[in-house]
Amino acid sequence: MGRLDDKVALVTGGARGQGAAEAELFVSEGATVIISDVLDDVGAETADRLGAACRYAHHDVTDEAGWAALVADIVEAHGRIDVLVNNAGIFEVRRLGDETLEAWNRMVAINQTGVFLGMRAVAETMKAAGSGSIINISSVAGLNGVGMAFTYSATKWAVRGMTKSAAQDLSRYGVRVNSIHPGYIETPMMHELRTDKEVLERGVPLGRTADASEVASAVLFLASDESGYCTGHELVVDGGLSA
Ligand code: NAD
Repeated sequence: MGRLDDKVALVTGGARGQGAAEAELFVSEGATVIISDVLDDVGAETADRLGAACRYAHHDVTDEAGWAALVADIVEAHGRIDVLVNNAGIFEVRRLGDETLEAWNRMVAINQTGVFLGMRAVAETMKAAGSGSIINISSVAGLNGVGMAFTYSATKWAVRGMTKSAAQDLSRYGVRVNSIHPGYIETPMMHELRTDKEVLERGVPLGRTADASEVASAVLFLASDESGYCTGHELVVDGGLSA
């Protein structure tokens, strides 16, 4: 028996990195998984690799009408949507003094507005079902300030805050909302830091960066019924970085 048997899950930014690792684990635990992304070739390859229980859908998380269409399509095809992982995100190194309004708006649109639109898009279906689990991927940058990534940190604090407000609001309908706070995870995004892996590892109490599968197992817990009494929680997966 799988830990997500009969569940239907949507993972945004699922073409690669952590989202792909989450999709892979979800499929292995019995879920039907839709991965969405803007990287169509990579997304289609990932879905092919994961087999018949996974399919790829093109969707930019900033596209409000696209959210409605994607959720309607999933509900029409599968009759339900049990899990949403708001995973899509971008990271760019810019200090406060280097930030432009244009770049700020773009990152807010993807990392913050995308999460708001996603939660709102699935809320009615989950409320009607009387159950559902939304998992928002924040960061350790949503727990502490990050001088060299001003806007990124702002968006990840927003994700953490929106998670708690949505958790309070949706709990009366049986819908749970939690956030995940990864540290240094080996994905294409981590390489944007342009810092030697050895230097990063020196700052981590467990002494290493993590594989995307180590975040996926935490996301799986929050997606499954095993976490049925957890909502508004912030699950830190950072090797002790923020301890
Ligand atoms: P990644 O860059 O490999 O994956 C991010 C995915 O999001 C990509 O497939 C990308 O195409 C997709 N994406 C970007 N903009 C999009 C948009 N507008 N619409 C739809 N999809 C879009 O990086 P990752 O590490 O797998 O990142 C996953 C999440 O984890 C992000 O929210 C990120 O902020 C967070 N995070 C990552 C780290 C890390 O060290 N890698 C640490 C903390 C938090």
